[in-house]
Amino acid sequence: MPQSSRLASQTWQILSETCSDTIRDAVARIIQRDKADLAAAFYTYMLQDEGAKPFLSVTTVEARLKPGLQRWLEVLFQHRSVEELAAALALQRHVGEVHARAQIPVNLVARGLRLLKHEINTRLLDTPLDRTELVNAVLYVDRLTDVAFEEMSAAFMLSSERGVRTDEAYRMFAAGRDLALEREKQSVAVLEWEARFYRMLAAGSSFDDIPSLKDSEFGLWLYHKAPLLFDETRELPLIGECVERIDQSLFPQLVFGRDKDLHSDTNRALAKAVLVEVDQIKFLLRSMFDRLVDLDVGRDVLTQLFNRRFLPSILKREISLSRRSDSQFCVLMLDIDHFKRVNDEHGHDAGDRVLQHVAGQLMNQVRGGDFVFRYGGEEFLVVLAAIDEEQARNVADKIRQRIAEMEVPLAASQNLRVTISIGIAVNDGHPDYQRIIERADRALYAAKETGRNRVVAA
Ligand code: GH3
Ligand code: MG
Ligand code: MG
Repeated sequence: MPQSSRLASQTWQILSETCSDTIRDAVARIIQRDKADLAAAFYTYMLQDEGAKPFLSVTTVEARLKPGLQRWLEVLFQHRSVEELAAALALQRHVGEVHARAQIPVNLVARGLRLLKHEINTRLLDTPLDRTELVNAVLYVDRLTDVAFEEMSAAFMLSSERGVRTDEAYRMFAAGRDLALEREKQSVAVLEWEARFYRMLAAGSSFDDIPSLKDSEFGLWLYHKAPLLFDETRELPLIGECVERIDQSLFPQLVFGRDKDLHSDTNRALAKAVLVEVDQIKFLLRSMFDRLVDLDVGRDVLTQLFNRRFLPSILKREISLSRRSDSQFCVLMLDIDHFKRVNDEHGHDAGDRVLQHVAGQLMNQVRGGDFVFRYGGEEFLVVLAAIDEEQARNVADKIRQRIAEMEVPLAASQNLRVTISIGIAVNDGHPDYQRIIERADRALYAAKETGRNRVVAA
């Protein structure tokens, strides 16, 4: 049973021990009747809170957050089955992820939930429940909210750890860390350890003199620095396993099980097994670095634009900058029109050349402080810093025109033209960066729907 459904059935079990249908119904009725009041009380309280204020604006509270909280209350407190409870818990994980992207502190969430419990429990006092039922109803609300918080926080922690790792990778990238050099250094570190191992083997000297791989220069790098650079690659844990096999299984047998004859069959087999593991490490290390260098440290190889890797870090920074400075920023989502036809009619190389020309044109049209990403195949994303909607529209329209006028030379002295559709979203203060991307994407979709080669604002 997956972790999540296990939690749902455990929770269901615990809740059912004290909770009758009467109680569930009483709580569900209160939620149904008072959800708008509860949401209002919640945000009145949060808007007065100095810590919460930076994350809330009166307009977003009214337009989005209050209705969102009402839905949350319904899903959590009106579940009728273990399956619905599982769905409610899945929602908590989603909320936790959103909070992590928006960097909303967990203690604020805890504070808000405390208020909600209090409000619901106060309302329970006015129901015709008898004393025992009342106690059980309060326990029910309490436990359910606690489990919700637990799920939210677990997802929050997981996402923010991932975020911190990306931010850190971004920091290294921004600091101009040289990956090629890093790759050389680490390959050499493995080779050095291997050479030492060979020397011991040849000389028949004691294995106590060689550090475990984990404590070697390479090991230090592997456990302390590699996780920052190689966010979630599949090779990293595999390398860790090789290191463990050498240090914890093969090596002790060689060290402690050694007889006078280092060249005994057993020792020869063990030594060979060590070298097989080392080879595997070298292979994994190479492919891990290759992929990262392929990403060209955050750049797309074909267009030389940023790839998506650092988009979260950059958007998070823009969101927090605009919160602090009261200035706006915009996201443009761009997609080449009928690009498939270019490939179909002129070949993939011509398609690639078009992508390079479009990328070059985008770079020419934006300012130094803006960011241009290759978002996907023939999709680009531009972050325009410190700009309002009208200015962003002008920039977008200029980009659109320039691209429509641009001629891409093909081999057979033939020129090709393409057009581009653009969706614009102005930062609306929402702390979750995913939202502004989605809004720009929807605007782009509208631009496609209404005829392409045009700009539409969200
Ligand atoms: P629309 O106007 O609706 O955007 O139509 P479209 O044909 O541009 O959109 P669609 O998404 O159907 O096709 C995108 C094509 O882009 C399909 C894919 O083969 C091509 N493509 C994606 N990446 C690359 C690339 O790196 N090089 C080349 N040459 N083509 C690519
Ligand atoms: Mg597309
Ligand atoms: Mg397209």
